[in-house]
Amino acid sequence: MKTLVLAESDHGSISDATLRVISAVSQRSAPLDVLALDAETASEAARLPGVARVLSSRCDGVATPERLAAQLRAVCAGYSLIAAAHRPLARGAFPRAAALTGSAFVADALGLANDGGFLRGLYAGSVLATVASETALTFATFRASSFAPVERAGGNASIVTLDAVPAFEKTSLVERQATQHTGHDLSTARVVVAGGRGLASQENIARLGTLAERIGAALGASRAAVDAGYAPNAAQVGQTGKTVAPDAYLAFGISGAIQHLAGMKDSKIIVAVNKDPDAPIFSVADIGLVGDLFETMRELEAYVGARGTS
Ligand SMILES: Cc1cc2nc3c(=O)[nH]c(=O)nc-3n(C[C@H](O)[C@H](O)[C@H](O)COP(=O)(O)OP(=O)(O)OC[C@H]3O[C@@H](n4cnc5c(N)ncnc54)[C@H](O)[C@@H]3O)c2cc1C
Repeated sequence: MKTLVLAESDHGSISDATLRVISAVSQRSAPLDVLALDAETASEAARLPGVARVLSSRCDGVATPERLAAQLRAVCAGYSLIAAAHRPLARGAFPRAAALTGSAFVADALGLANDGGFLRGLYAGSVLATVASETALTFATFRASSFAPVERAGGNASIVTLDAVPAFEKTSLVERQATQHTGHDLSTARVVVAGGRGLASQENIARLGTLAERIGAALGASRAAVDAGYAPNAAQVGQTGKTVAPDAYLAFGISGAIQHLAGMKDSKIIVAVNKDPDAPIFSVADIGLVGDLFETMRELEAYVGARGTS
C-alpha cells in the first residue's frame, strides 16, 4: 500500500502525533512517503526511520485547509492511503481533498484492520467497527494516542521540492493567533491530570494545572468544566474534545458521563477522586478514592512539594 503521511510540526519540530501516525501505518505501507509543509520539517522528516521520500511543499508551514487540499490533490496520484493525525489541520483539509479527488475519507481511525479496512469507534467508543473503503485512494485521520511514536532518527530519505500550488481565492487567512501553550501536549502526554465541575472555579483548575505541571503531566478537563469557563477549550477530553490514552489518568471531580469516558477510558491506569460513591467514573477506575478532592489535592501538593518537582 503506497502511503503518504502528512507531517505536522509543533513548536518547531515534527509533532509527536505525526510520529505515532507513521508508526500506525508503517507496517502496511510500501513505500511510505511524508508530506512536509516547510523545509525544516522536510529535513527532519527525512531522518525518520522507514520513510522513503519526503515531499516538501511550499506552503511555508501555514497551510489553510483549502490550500492543503489543493496540494494533496496535486500529489495524490499513485497513493492508496493519505494519513495524518486526527487534528484540526487534517480534519479540515482531508474531507476537502477527498471531495476534490472523488476519494473516501475515514475520520479518527484506531488502526488498520487485517483485511485492509479501518478500525473505528462508534457510539462514543462502545462499538468497534471495521470500515472498508471502496475507492482506490483513501484519506484517513488516525487517533495518534493509540500508537507508540517512531524514533526521530535512523532514516535517510530523499527530499523532493514540490511546485507551489495556486492560492485559494475564495477565502484568505487574515490572522493567526497562537493560544498560550501551557504544559504538556494533552493528546500524547504519559500522565493526564483532569478536573471536572467538582473543581468549582477557574482558580482551582489552575491549581490542578500547577500540580500537573510539577509531576510532568498534562491538564485535562471535562466539558462541564470547560463550559463553566474553569478550563480552556483545548483541555477538554471526551467525545467532543480530545481522546487520550495515557499511562495514567487522574480524574478529580468528574462524574464519568459516557461522553467523557469516550475520550479517556483507554488510559492504562485510571485514578478517580469523587465524593459520590455512585459516580460512574468508578466503573472504569482502577483506583477509586471516595472523598473530597480538595483534601486529596492538598495531600498530593504536599507530597510533590516534599519530593521536589519532577
Ligand atoms: C453531544 C454531547 C457531547 C459531549 N461531549 C463531552 C466531552 O467531550 N467531554 C465531556 O467531559 N463531556 C461531554 N459531554 C457532557 C457530559 O454529558 C457531562 O455533562 C460532563 O462530562 C459532566 O462533566 P463533569 O463530570 O465535570 O460534571 P458533573 O457531571 O456535574 O460531575 C461533577 C462531579 O464532581 C463531584 N464533586 C463535586 N464536588 C466534589 C468534591 N469537593 N470532591 C470530590 N468530588 C466532587 C460530584 O460528585 C460529581 O460526580 C457531552 C454531552 C453531549 C450531550
